[in-house]
Amino acid sequence: MAEQAGKQTGEQTVKGIISRAKNEPVEMVDVVIPEPGANDVIVKIQACGVCHTDLAYKEGAITDDYPFLLGHEAAGVVEQVGERVTHVAEGDYVVLNWRAVCGECRACKKGELKYCFDTHNASKKMTLTDGTELEPALGIGAFAEKTLVHEGQCTKVNEHADPAVAGLLGCGVMAGLGAAVNTGEVKRGESIAVIGVGGVGMSAVAGAKLAGATTIIAIDVSDEKLERAKKEFGATHTINSSDLSDDELIDQVRELTGGFGTDVVVDAVGLPKTYKQAFYMRDLAGRVVLVGVPTPEMTLELPLLDVFGRGGSLKSSWYGDCLPERDFPMYVDLFTEGQLPLDRFVDERVGLGDVEAAFEKMKQGKVLRSVVELKN
Ligand SMILES: [Zn+2]
Ligand SMILES: [Zn+2]
Repeated sequence: MAEQAGKQTGEQTVKGIISRAKNEPVEMVDVVIPEPGANDVIVKIQACGVCHTDLAYKEGAITDDYPFLLGHEAAGVVEQVGERVTHVAEGDYVVLNWRAVCGECRACKKGELKYCFDTHNASKKMTLTDGTELEPALGIGAFAEKTLVHEGQCTKVNEHADPAVAGLLGCGVMAGLGAAVNTGEVKRGESIAVIGVGGVGMSAVAGAKLAGATTIIAIDVSDEKLERAKKEFGATHTINSSDLSDDELIDQVRELTGGFGTDVVVDAVGLPKTYKQAFYMRDLAGRVVLVGVPTPEMTLELPLLDVFGRGGSLKSSWYGDCLPERDFPMYVDLFTEGQLPLDRFVDERVGLGDVEAAFEKMKQGKVLRSVVELKN
């Protein structure tokens, strides 16, 4: 596709997918990438997964700062670096992340880098050709031939890993793996239930398997997804909850766990209903992990005595409590060594012009991931 280098400014123009206004179909446009700031990096994108968060931007559920440059689950190759960049170099194969920790905020100073409240992004804005600033999705904007990010947003991984697969660690798959492994701290021999096995929940199933959980119960309303959870990702049991009352569902989980409930429950849906199910289907002193994202109008009502009496912990998992520099290379290695079936999340490979169609498939629950591949 067309690409021009501006002679004096060092700008370049590439194709990218933007959401210009609430609920309008996305558009392919020319995106102007400025010369990188001192700690910025231009990355040639090779592949970028289509995530629910991109759709949420388009639907106005995140902010109103249109236009957005969508895409944030990506792998590519570093093309150009700013003058003070030391973390990566031209030619490095990287997965992009939205948790480039600052090292200076109150969370980082406490050693809780996963909660960093001041993560780094590029110092400059990409724009439309008329100068309108673009808001990159999660500070990345990777449905584009190239994008501009902070050096800390680039994590080097094994260069032999397929970009369409490795890039998925940049968001949804990491959120799910981390919900089980980091936030839920599921251990060898433990039991876990995962409510909702779309891309994130399915990753939680895979994470639990990797961690050595021996009872992994996948719960969903789609038999097809449940089948995949068992055949491809390591679920030991499945429950189709479509026709079950909350009590019936909870009873089934208890029956599968000696009458007690699971050690960990991951709610990958994020509704008050599923959260209550999660709350009661865990064993006494078990852990509930919320990774599905609720909407602003949702509220939760629980008997406070049960919150006290059932003990354990109720945690939320942001980005799977991951540290990209620790986790991305490790999970890529586990994939290339055949211990983690990351490639099975890629249900289709599409072009940059197919994002809108991919949103439709995602809404219909037809795919774990559509991945946009670029001929870079
Ligand atoms: Zn910080
Ligand atoms: Zn995402």
